[in-house]
Amino acid sequence: MKIAVDERGYYGNFGGAYIPEMLYPNVEELRQNYLSILNDEGFRKDFDHLLKTYVGRPTPLYFAKRLSERYQAKIYLKREDLCHTGAHKVNNTIGQILLAKRLNKKNIIAETGAGQHGVATATVCALMGMECIVYMGEIDMERQKPNVERMRILGTEVRPATSGSKTLKDATNEAMRHWINNPVDTHYIIGSVVGPHPYPDMVARFQSVISEEIKWQLKETEGLESPDYVIACVGGGSNAAGAFYHYYENDDVKLIAVEAAGLGNETGKSAATTTLGKPGVLHGSRTLLMQTKDGQVVEPYSISAGLDYPGIGPVQAHLFESGRAKFYSATDEEAMKAGILLSRLEGIIPAIETAHALAALEKMTFSKDDVVVLNLSGRGDKDLETYIKWGRY
Ligand SMILES: *Cc1c(COP(=O)(O)O)cnc(C)c1O
Repeated sequence: MKIAVDERGYYGNFGGAYIPEMLYPNVEELRQNYLSILNDEGFRKDFDHLLKTYVGRPTPLYFAKRLSERYQAKIYLKREDLCHTGAHKVNNTIGQILLAKRLNKKNIIAETGAGQHGVATATVCALMGMECIVYMGEIDMERQKPNVERMRILGTEVRPATSGSKTLKDATNEAMRHWINNPVDTHYIIGSVVGPHPYPDMVARFQSVISEEIKWQLKETEGLESPDYVIACVGGGSNAAGAFYHYYENDDVKLIAVEAAGLGNETGKSAATTTLGKPGVLHGSRTLLMQTKDGQVVEPYSISAGLDYPGIGPVQAHLFESGRAKFYSATDEEAMKAGILLSRLEGIIPAIETAHALAALEKMTFSKDDVVVLNLSGRGDKDLETYIKWGRY
């Protein structure tokens, strides 16, 4: 099935650029330039060089022997947890900071919820010597102190968003307002395949290095480029988009997306957008989101900060609606158990976001020869406190 953004920035019924008029020049500048910059040979060279020497790519494709025995399939882990800063997010921030330079931007802004995208942005700004301001909800700053300090150590100013619920959506509003007031010299780095066109397509292209590598790595080990399954967790959908990208048009490859079901999809404490959401506009694009009858955004819940988002990117909404990807959800409990299991079987403590993808293995049935690639989006160091609080290991 063809899964690509059209001229107007749509994937099927989802996408577009629903932005205030005052933001139009900023987004339009990006839209007109992103493809020629991304396809420029010099840009590709700089991007590849930093991915190799700074991020540590290619990340290994690791055959997980004990996990494979447990689930009776050939399971490979794509080790994005070994990227610099501990997750896939830096693939995108490296790409966007190089793009910002090509557009002659001097300053960077970003918003962050849990702080992971903020840290990945602060990291590349330090690397490039660029000024960086990260907006973060006041409550999130309290909850995620270590990441706030990480950003500060890296030289970034963290600005509290003090309006509304003082969380991610308020930080997003503040960042938008800042960008409207500084259209010429500032680039806004969005951290997932969300936001107005061209962000979802641009971020997916930067993350597509994941499946580009999987293809040649599988060829080396299994003698074939295409697995039977690719599994990834979905918050906004960027690590999944990266892992799926080069398989969209190969219908033999089953794409499995896993959302966070929190305390359970019937409890009102969940973040499983495809189960609970309806079409609407969120952060500049038409997509699926959790909302009240009146269209007000419902606060999501998940034990994992990175999946605690009320919507999904438009490409994920399209993958769901078209049936090209199958969506599962995993509760806090299921994810925590899966995280401990991987630790015990393979000596890898995963991020709790990633543990949701691992939990899907319990819900699926494989035949013995099935080749399964699971995108190990991040490492668990940042989640140690959550593991300790959960306690059952
Ligand atoms: C942020 C994050 C996610 C969720 O974001 P996506 O855009 O859906 O990939 C998943 N895993 C880890 C480790 C993260 O840090």
